[in-house]
Amino acid sequence: MATAATKSTTEQSNLSALKGHIPLIGLTGGIGSGKTTVSDLLAKLGAGIVDTDLIAHQITAPNGVAISLIEKQFGSEFIAADGALNREKMRTLIFNSPEARKSLETITHPLIRQETARQALQLNKDGAPYLVFVVPLLIESGSWKDLIDRLVVVDCTKETQIKRVMQRSNLTQEEVERILAAQASREERLKHADLVIENQGSLKKLEAEVENLHQKILQILKE
Ligand code: ATP
Repeated sequence: MATAATKSTTEQSNLSALKGHIPLIGLTGGIGSGKTTVSDLLAKLGAGIVDTDLIAHQITAPNGVAISLIEKQFGSEFIAADGALNREKMRTLIFNSPEARKSLETITHPLIRQETARQALQLNKDGAPYLVFVVPLLIESGSWKDLIDRLVVVDCTKETQIKRVMQRSNLTQEEVERILAAQASREERLKHADLVIENQGSLKKLEAEVENLHQKILQILKE
């Protein structure tokens, strides 16, 4: 029987096997830049979307596959009453302890990779013209560069990011700025971009940008 580890390795190598057969696009951007909005628009145009942030949430939701492993490693006080990860408590712990962060990632990263590969293979089977991997910390992680064919960066000013995140959540300006400071800078991200989606204006303008991006990605198929 395949263990979780061997299954993960097999699915990862299957994921690399997609390279050259279907365009593999990485989509990243800072917090609140508009990654989800852009990927929703691309999905409407027919793109196959694999959202690694969503997967990370699913595996730590009630009954998620990471829950029992997290409970074993960190204790039941890190599991909320509904059976999900106590995100608040874990965020505080890993913010102050790099060892705890590493230990959490040792549990979650292989599970995220495994589910990412499963979804990608399925979307390819279903006939998606290209695949978009939404990865918030793609620049910071370094492990995606060899897999993807093009990197798309969703870009807006820091002020816009702060405004959007504060509107959407109950975080204070100071808290959003702390998150921003822990992420790659706007300049660093743009340095790695093959394609940039400018998301400083209206949603209407963004729609036009995304349509343009879709056409550019389809061109890769003809190269
Ligand atoms: P996170 O990193 O936190 O997951 P994200 O990069 O996925 O965020 P979104 O969730 O797409 O960003 O957008 C952040 C917020 O800003 C959402 O409430 C979204 O509706 C809003 N938003 C995104 N783009 C625009 C825009 N062009 N005009 C107005 N609001 C926007």
